[in-house]
Amino acid sequence: MFESIERVPGDAILGLIQQFKDDPNPNKVDLGVGVYRDEHGNTPILRAVKDAEKKLIDTEQTKAYIGSHGDPQYGEYILQTVLGADSKVLAANRASATQSPGGTGALRLAADFLVSQLPGKAIWLPNPTWPNHLGVFEAARLEIKRYPYVDDNDQFDFDAMLKKLKSIPKGDIVLLHACCHNPTGFDPSQDQWHQILEVVQDRELLPLVDFAYQGFGDGLDEDAYGVRLLADHLDEMVITQSCSKNFGIYRERTGCFIAIAKDEEDMQDVRSQLATTARENYSNPPAHGSAIVATIMGSAELTAAWHRELDEMRDRINDVRQKLVEGLKPHGLADKFAFITDQRGMFSYTGLTEDQVNKLRDEYSIYMVASGRANVAGLNDDNIEYVCKAIADVVG
Ligand code: PMP
Repeated sequence: MFESIERVPGDAILGLIQQFKDDPNPNKVDLGVGVYRDEHGNTPILRAVKDAEKKLIDTEQTKAYIGSHGDPQYGEYILQTVLGADSKVLAANRASATQSPGGTGALRLAADFLVSQLPGKAIWLPNPTWPNHLGVFEAARLEIKRYPYVDDNDQFDFDAMLKKLKSIPKGDIVLLHACCHNPTGFDPSQDQWHQILEVVQDRELLPLVDFAYQGFGDGLDEDAYGVRLLADHLDEMVITQSCSKNFGIYRERTGCFIAIAKDEEDMQDVRSQLATTARENYSNPPAHGSAIVATIMGSAELTAAWHRELDEMRDRINDVRQKLVEGLKPHGLADKFAFITDQRGMFSYTGLTEDQVNKLRDEYSIYMVASGRANVAGLNDDNIEYVCKAIADVVG
């Protein structure tokens, strides 16, 4: 039976990781894979996470099932982190949290929930977006449509985005990146978020806000500006959250699906459906990652330590953006690439063409995604000059 099954190409980024591993060039630089790197190129476990794990070893009482919605204490902490402790949505008991296997699990829950409970609605994704949005939503049989996000020069095109959003059929779903847009790094300003809110209200759209990088842009509260603005003014929205990046617990698969309803009654109805969706997919979420997060957030000391480490990661990313543009100055390219310091998060749409990306890889062993997306966290004091020189060569 399996004879007729075709082999498909693997994930492009995974292919890139393998090519990088196999490359013998000692000067090779990985700007492809989507994890944070410190100045030594490592993705270390945060000290706050290690300390929480030590605590858990001594205090954890059971490995019994955690339940379809996961740990309620974790859910409460995530709601407060995402919506703000003083959120009126939380005060009115209008938000439900369902712990999920990572942000990807939250997206799949969202997709299955939307297909089963709001049939016939299309989801509008920015173009470009994180490629797995397409994978997850297609797998769930959600109808996908696109709105533009960048212009022909790979620069943020808010006017084109807004114009398209204004033409979306009433009642459709719109996916918005809360911050640190993957892959471009371009985020709406506060004023632009207000304009988005207006269109969402006018077209009666249901926003699905994907929040995978809280704290990686400008700060935990600053990065939540758009999400909280929408939550404060809309009756209904959904949010997919991830702790992979801001806690550095990628492989622990820790995320959350948040549904906001117009009142507690509706919220409980939605919540009951989500338990079924979760059960049908994976029954219960894994518990270790949420236990780490809840342990950190339950301790003022560990929370302070986590905030310090998150600040360090964010500051390094923003610092390296400055250094990249400064490093391009001697090559006469500082103005051309000045936009890199306006972008936020790990990812940067560099505007490099596929040919230029290939040349960087083949001639300099510098690896990034074919779209020209670079993970700037792969840059450090040892390689930045080399990368700047190589960029100047392929651009010039
Ligand atoms: N959304 C976006 C925009 C992402 O970039 C990612 C991770 N690359 C996710 C969701 C999923 O994150 P997780 O690893 O927690 O599944």
